[in-house]
Amino acid sequence: MTVTELVSYDEALASYDPVMGLEVHVELGTRTKMFCGCSTALGADANSQVCPTCLGLPGALPVVNKSGVESAIRIGLALHCEIAEWCRFARKNYFYPDMPKNFQTSQYDEPIAFDGYLDVQLEDGEVFRVEIERAHMEEDTGKSTHVGGATGRIHGASHSLLDYNRAGIPLIEIVTKPIVGAGERAPEVAKAYVAELRELIKALGVSEARMEMGQMRCDVNLSLRPKGREAFGTRSETKNVNSLRSVERAARFEIQRHAAVLSSGGSIVQETRHFHEEDGSTTSGRVKEEAEDYRYFPEPDLVPVAPSREWVEELRGTLPELPRVRRNRLREEWGITEHEMQSVLNAGAVDLIVATVDAGAPADQARKWWMGELARRANEDGVELPALSITPEQVARVCALVAEGSLNDKLARQTIEGVLAGEGTPDEVVDKRGLKVVSDEGALGTAVDEAIAGNPDVAEKIRGGKVAAAGALVGAVMKATRGQADAARVKEMIMEKLGVEG
Ligand code: ADP
Ligand code: MG
Ligand code: ZN
Repeated sequence: MTVTELVSYDEALASYDPVMGLEVHVELGTRTKMFCGCSTALGADANSQVCPTCLGLPGALPVVNKSGVESAIRIGLALHCEIAEWCRFARKNYFYPDMPKNFQTSQYDEPIAFDGYLDVQLEDGEVFRVEIERAHMEEDTGKSTHVGGATGRIHGASHSLLDYNRAGIPLIEIVTKPIVGAGERAPEVAKAYVAELRELIKALGVSEARMEMGQMRCDVNLSLRPKGREAFGTRSETKNVNSLRSVERAARFEIQRHAAVLSSGGSIVQETRHFHEEDGSTTSGRVKEEAEDYRYFPEPDLVPVAPSREWVEELRGTLPELPRVRRNRLREEWGITEHEMQSVLNAGAVDLIVATVDAGAPADQARKWWMGELARRANEDGVELPALSITPEQVARVCALVAEGSLNDKLARQTIEGVLAGEGTPDEVVDKRGLKVVSDEGALGTAVDEAIAGNPDVAEKIRGGKVAAAGALVGAVMKATRGQADAARVKEMIMEKLGVEG
């Protein structure tokens, strides 16, 4: 199906009600793999972080990574789930070259965490509750690279390379209950859910959850039902969507595609689909009816996981403030609107502003610099804000220099520029570049006298009551002092000298 055959989004929503299910895989940041002691560090030579267990060699015995279980429980608790008193791992049997054991160690009908929810905030501030079916532990597969073809896909490739370094890295799969009632906002809810989950995972410190690096990936299940009908329609499952924007686009595309098929009298086949970044479309993958039976059975080589209630409560005590709650608290403390907070979030500036405020800067000043000058510089250099070579403490110091009157905004910008250029701390840059505001009244007075003498017509206008004309004289003084005068003080002095009320 091509894009042109889609039903328009509004038309689709006029007749149908979308139902969604989101399955998110998160790669945990544990030091070692889930069932062996191999390192999980990225960037190592292919197949240098493997052992008989994660290669599935005969006789090798797995052992559960306690810190993986701990992360799973903390994620479950943060999602308001119940934590199983006793659960087992299961073998999910299938053959694929990137999975050397020929089964994935996963959990099936006994997940470690179940029945929870995550409240997500939409752009207009409305809160939507997404219910969680379960969160279970499993392991990642290796990585295949198809070489010799034009597309990097297996078709047309001359051979394939396999790297098992990733095989056995712990994964947590978080599955929602069917999400109903979102209506036309279903794609926005999908995106907001994944965004919120990512923030939560990062706040828990269990993974960096970088979607662009595959540390977090989402399968989008979607079906439509005619408005007013209870029963769900047949779903499609768009696999491995790996950015927030793509999650939203995939849901939107599937709504339009399902509507086109259904309203022309066709029926949806249950299948997996691939998402295409280029045009936001999805194409058919594997039809579910043909999918193999995984012959799940309990893993005989691993003991059951039975976390004591004391341990669970201890872990509950380690939970951070939920990201949504923290965001709302900060928004109030900073006295900004939802919309302004959204910009701060999008810029990835929340933690930087918090750290700058912790270092003593007023919130509005901290926000002004990070969202203004520094965001502009990061954008110019094509980097993220945290990658700029200036620390929150240094930004706070610049704010302090402005507050005490040593720097004006223009000089502060030059100071920041110097820090970014590696010229040293704000104080060092101010010294080296000689950026202090000219506050010596005598020197300023001379500059003001010269400006008045040099522009007698302007001075006359001001005397005659045209106070607005003072700008030209202030400009002349600022120019003469290379921008290092306090403009407000200059204006005051001009008025005093001309004998005009300011
Ligand atoms: P599978 O492994 O076959 O994909 P899961 O139960 O792991 O099954 O995940 C299915 C996901 O799709 C869940 O999030 C579930 O809530 C959701 N879901 C189930 N039925 C439907 C449906 N008819 N339409 C949309 N989503 C659905
Ligand atoms: Mg699925
Ligand atoms: Zn190993």
